[in-house]
Amino acid sequence: MKLLIVGGVAGGASAAARARRLSEEAEIIMFERGPEVSFANCGLPYYIGGEIKTRDKLVVTTPERLRTRFYLDVRTRSLVESIDRTSKSIRVRELDTGRTYDESYDKIILAPGAAPLKPDVPGIDLPGIFTLRNLQDVDLIKQRVDSGVTSAIVIGGGFIGLEMVENLVRRGIRTRVVERNEQLLGPLDREMTRPIYQTLMEHGVQVEFSQTLQSIEQSGEMLSLRFSSGLQLETSIAIIGVGVKPENQLAIDAKLKVGSRGGICVNEFLQTSDPDIYAVGDAIEVKDFVFGHLTQVPLAGPANRQGRIAAGNALGGTSRYRGTQGTAIVGVLGRTAAMTGGSEKLLRRLQIPFRMVYVHPTNHAGYYPGAEPMTLKLLFDPKTGLILGAQGVGGDGVDKRIDILAVAIQSKLTVFDLEEMELCYAPQYGSAKDPVNMLGFVASGLLRGEHPQMDVEEIVSSKTPDRPYLIDVRTPQEFLFGHIPGAINLPVDELRSRLNELPRHGKIAAYCQVGQRGYLATRILLQSGFDAVNIGGGYKTYLLCHREVY
Ligand code: FAD
Repeated sequence: MKLLIVGGVAGGASAAARARRLSEEAEIIMFERGPEVSFANCGLPYYIGGEIKTRDKLVVTTPERLRTRFYLDVRTRSLVESIDRTSKSIRVRELDTGRTYDESYDKIILAPGAAPLKPDVPGIDLPGIFTLRNLQDVDLIKQRVDSGVTSAIVIGGGFIGLEMVENLVRRGIRTRVVERNEQLLGPLDREMTRPIYQTLMEHGVQVEFSQTLQSIEQSGEMLSLRFSSGLQLETSIAIIGVGVKPENQLAIDAKLKVGSRGGICVNEFLQTSDPDIYAVGDAIEVKDFVFGHLTQVPLAGPANRQGRIAAGNALGGTSRYRGTQGTAIVGVLGRTAAMTGGSEKLLRRLQIPFRMVYVHPTNHAGYYPGAEPMTLKLLFDPKTGLILGAQGVGGDGVDKRIDILAVAIQSKLTVFDLEEMELCYAPQYGSAKDPVNMLGFVASGLLRGEHPQMDVEEIVSSKTPDRPYLIDVRTPQEFLFGHIPGAINLPVDELRSRLNELPRHGKIAAYCQVGQRGYLATRILLQSGFDAVNIGGGYKTYLLCHREVY
């Protein structure tokens, strides 16, 4: 068996090592056009920021080590130019010598990744404008940053863009973000990104939304960036982080099937339209694990797992790739945002019925020092309670909850399972009722009809006379500090004695700060014969949805 692997980083290196573990006999050649293999793309921004001190830490392993330990034939600076499927051979160009040669194959695994997108605008190739994908890019950016730049603009407020912002800020550089959409971190729902926006502002990072880059000009030592709105900004350097496009040219030239969004098409065994050619990683289109549609998810975890599966299958196995559910996380200047499965906007786009709940717990017992708040949002099927997606934003512990919910989605659990989930607890780690349990309690109670709920959006968009009678059951001090317009204040502790002040006709919507006192108020009202609902997630959710800064 002669196995050729194109691309030597996440998916490719993972496939190569796995193939060797499975077969001592196979001839395995890995081609990488860059000088390094198996480097830590995900660590690149932190080297610029100085958190990762030395460049060699980014090199997970070297060609020499792969040769010695895995007996792999690793050919760097070797570009695979074409695939001849008839003769079953590839054409390789040695980038240092210009020499080309052919290499025959039994099977190929394509792992060429995805290239950073660059807006097609005048001036985009001027010095001082960078994209970030590999060690060569990081060297250029680091060199420039080390030379003492004072200002930076990051175009694109996605995951990589915001990681760059964090690290530029760490270096003391005045940094601005310019984003084409109306929110940061596009895959998340907008309200869940607001705390990240607030964190950026707290660190002096200016964010401009709804701005499309139009042109870049050199202006002395500085770059001058013009945007569609007329906005013009000057900066020492600009980092472009507006997304990636699959490296599909090799596949297209070989007449392999490629999807409408450019990802190489594969079946569940990760075979392309040619059964002897597999493809993995950022270059492929994948099945969405939860909803089954085709999508592209450029993440390291899926690329690594796909590399393992493709290697096994190329060597005769029949493992299936289950699909990708988009479990992702980013840390920005001390705040974390994470998600798994479908977002509210995706569910709306796919017209999938759902309900959602928010909770605002702390990461561990509130009485134990250092508890940090978080907001979790859960989306689930309104009939069965099947979990469809989750998002979290806050400090410590967001990662743990989203990971639990990711596994819950993979295991096709429902909100009723979350109620029952037994998770480890001591005060410095969690709560006896973990935030994941809390999501389960709220969502299950909702589906059982124990506490009818209205979403903040329903309340805000409802017009008189259909608008429920709104009661804020927090304390007068909390009410004074801010409340939903139109609400009257009736603290939950006084509710039982003041029921006669409430209208007997029409719906009453109760809310508190995070939903808990609102829940109690709703239970009191329901049992006293009122038509009552709780406003999910309380005033905190209202602020997330309706204030830029809260
Ligand atoms: P890559 O890792 O990009 O490897 C593809 C390789 O193939 C490249 O080195 C390329 O040179 C080579 N190649 C392409 N064409 C040819 C050819 N014709 N011949 C020879 N060689 C070729 N993901 C996360 O999950 N979490 C993170 O925190 C995270 N952070 C990131 C931060 C940055 C700055 C970047 C750039 C990415 C980050 N990612 C993260 C994404 C993650 O790195 C990718 O999803 C993953 O590397 C994809 O693996 P891959 O093997 O498909 O492609």
